[in-house]
Amino acid sequence: MLIEHLNRQLRERAGQSLTRQRRTAMSPCGSHPRVMHEGVERLVLAFCSNDYLGLANHPALVAALAEGACRWGVGSGASHLVSGHSEVHAALEGDLAGWISPCIPGARALFFGTGYLANLALLTALGDARATLFADKLNHASLVDGGLLARAHMQRYAHGRLDVLERQLQNCTTPVRLIVTDAVFSMDGDLADLPALLNLAERYDAWLIVDDAHGFGVLGPQGRGSLAHFDLRSERFIYMGTLGKAAGVAGAFVAAHPTIAEWLLQVARSYIYTTAAPPAIAHALRASLELITGEEGARRRVWLQQRVHQLRDGLAAMIAQRPSLDWHLPESTTAIQPLIVGDNERALSLSSALEAQGLWVPAIRPPTVPLGTARLRITLSAAHAAGDVERLLTALRIAS
Ligand SMILES: *Cc1c(COP(=O)(O)O)cnc(C)c1O
Repeated sequence: MLIEHLNRQLRERAGQSLTRQRRTAMSPCGSHPRVMHEGVERLVLAFCSNDYLGLANHPALVAALAEGACRWGVGSGASHLVSGHSEVHAALEGDLAGWISPCIPGARALFFGTGYLANLALLTALGDARATLFADKLNHASLVDGGLLARAHMQRYAHGRLDVLERQLQNCTTPVRLIVTDAVFSMDGDLADLPALLNLAERYDAWLIVDDAHGFGVLGPQGRGSLAHFDLRSERFIYMGTLGKAAGVAGAFVAAHPTIAEWLLQVARSYIYTTAAPPAIAHALRASLELITGEEGARRRVWLQQRVHQLRDGLAAMIAQRPSLDWHLPESTTAIQPLIVGDNERALSLSSALEAQGLWVPAIRPPTVPLGTARLRITLSAAHAAGDVERLLTALRIAS
């Protein structure tokens, strides 16, 4: 009965071209992975990872992880509150607190196994029945899920509509108010207006939860993230950064007022009831932070920005030459560059035409993005060479 029920639903999804498939990487994360798909192995040029600085296979981090494993073994053995918390986890938290301190004075950091768990922790632990969560409608799924699990009242505002948010804040009667936003929106690459959001938080006595999964390591001086990019400083920020994207390893952290961090540690179920990440991961992350803040990080951020400009200039020229394509390239200064082509079939056929030329650029369709805005989601990395972006532009010209 269950199996029949599931098979019927799987067939329905297939009928709407909604079946998702994994491709199997046969080589480490990078710009030119070997990929196995439907029994065929090929070398492809990939524009789909979140490894924005190209650190996921960096020799210094590979060595750091190996060194961490030699020193600390491979498993933590338990959750942080039982016996899994080690000196190297504590040292990493100290590094992260220092990292964010220019933007959140006096912050304490708490290390999590993943960003998904960190967001669940934040929204469920802070969003009790006395709180209202105000969330941008394009927030990441982990923030949506955290909101569903929380007991707080939930108010969502249309993407970027701070006038709507302000009305919601004016009408709010709960004593605790939490504004929740992605800093860089994951399907559009645009930045939340953090200065204006902070201003609203101050005027309406709210706290501002910022998910900086795509800004951490990439934006701001020394890659310190979106708060530093806008040169903001406030104790009202509750910052979540992920460590599996630009940082190239795995994990996430929350940095906030020490009382908030202590409360999470005491009550957040997705912190308490899960095994601590291996200490070797924390060891590798400390090395990653050093790379990101140092000269090598600075160089890689420059390369990434060069690729972003190159791609945008090339696409803008193509769109100007051929308006009949009806492509749209929204404003984005980040590594995430969406090329909106309209309907699902066009996005899919463009992605397949690129695949036929050896390029891996995913098509993103509703419900992940709004109806009629199906797109290629191009993500760039410092690992891409100028010739790689040139090849993508040529392939798009041929495919269109
Ligand atoms: C990837 C991502 C997460 C989840 O982080 P993981 O460490 O991959 O679990 C959370 N928020 C945003 C915006 C993300 O892009």
